[in-house]
Amino acid sequence: MGDSGPAASSAGAGFAATKAMFTLPPDIVYMDGNSLGPLPAGALPRLSSTVAEEWGAMLISSWNKAGWMAQPNAVGDRIGRLIGAQPGTVTVGDTLSIKVYQCLAAALRMTRRKVVLSDDGNFPSDLYMASGLIDQLDDAHELRLVPPEELESRIDDTVAAVLFTEVDYRTGRLHDLKRIVEAAHERGALAIVDLAHTAGACEVDVARSGVDFAVGCTYKYLNAGPGAPAFIYVAPRHIETAEPVLRGWLGHARPFDFTLQYEPAAGISKFRIGTPPVLQMACLEAALDVFEAAPPMSEIRRRSMELSQSFIDGVEARCPMLTLASPRNPRERGSQVSFRFHEAYAVMQCLISRGVIGDFRAPDMIRFGFTPLYLDAQDVDRAVDTLSEVMAMRLWDEDRFKKKSFVT
Ligand SMILES: *Cc1c(COP(=O)(O)O)cnc(C)c1O
Repeated sequence: MGDSGPAASSAGAGFAATKAMFTLPPDIVYMDGNSLGPLPAGALPRLSSTVAEEWGAMLISSWNKAGWMAQPNAVGDRIGRLIGAQPGTVTVGDTLSIKVYQCLAAALRMTRRKVVLSDDGNFPSDLYMASGLIDQLDDAHELRLVPPEELESRIDDTVAAVLFTEVDYRTGRLHDLKRIVEAAHERGALAIVDLAHTAGACEVDVARSGVDFAVGCTYKYLNAGPGAPAFIYVAPRHIETAEPVLRGWLGHARPFDFTLQYEPAAGISKFRIGTPPVLQMACLEAALDVFEAAPPMSEIRRRSMELSQSFIDGVEARCPMLTLASPRNPRERGSQVSFRFHEAYAVMQCLISRGVIGDFRAPDMIRFGFTPLYLDAQDVDRAVDTLSEVMAMRLWDEDRFKKKSFVT
């Protein structure tokens, strides 16, 4: 039976096969896929053949012959299948921060309203991009931040767009995408969702949700590697009217006419900007192969909830000094679990020295990402055992674990 058959996947056999599709160092439990996914085994051969057989052998003709120029939209369609987007509505390029800016700028040109509503649990880069954009516009524009729990209720008829990240990067709290979109539309506002911690980990259906714009990165749960490009989705009903503000030549209708007048390309291509990152895209393609061999997203999500629940149960039973910072209900959190502790940084450094890799977020949080693609029940048991040793014996209480690096 194939790995994606329902019987195989519910028995977990599908995930043993996906785990074998990653190259992980021996004796490591990797729980930081929410920050940087691990290396898909197929990435290195794919990258190497792109470098040698395309760039090296075919040189510049690869733009046509190897399909480099068509790749952002082709890869966009593959990501689209994981997020419920119709073909032709997603393209890939740039970084997530840039894609946030593009969506927001396009949204603000579609309305006379002046308020961008977001929440103070949103990722800072999204808020910085919004404030930079707003500072360039007239004085009437405003970035309004509210607590995450109030996001839906604070949408009023001054709001141009609601900009939110579905999964909170610190606590894992999950916003109700469908409800926020509905609330926004009822009050005449647009909705822009950031799927940074959703794509590849949680089920999402951007088309069905009715969201106007969606963006995300590919180096977290999509495992495409450091510096991998971001993606952008525009709902088909807006694609004619949405205006790109960042006007690059590859978003032009005929880039190789080199005309002085900008004329947007048809469809999602107008949200392309400049030269695609071909080598990163090769890694992204190999990373997406894993999802195409894996059980469906619904099964990935179901298993991830089981793993995270068993982690919470184990840690709470054995580490009373840690406080759960994530929602207790697995349906209200994404694919990560966080705990608070006053020496969280030292705890995480100590854990990492013992082969269990998560990360730290200021001021006092340790964070663990869960995906069954390469984490199994034994890994989770080992993480609980290691963490409970570190806590019970205060193994974290050493100077070497308290020296902060730049990246935490
Ligand atoms: C990870 C993350 C980013 C990072 O943006 P880059 O431009 O890729 O560095 C932005 N927003 C959110 C919500 C994130 O989780």
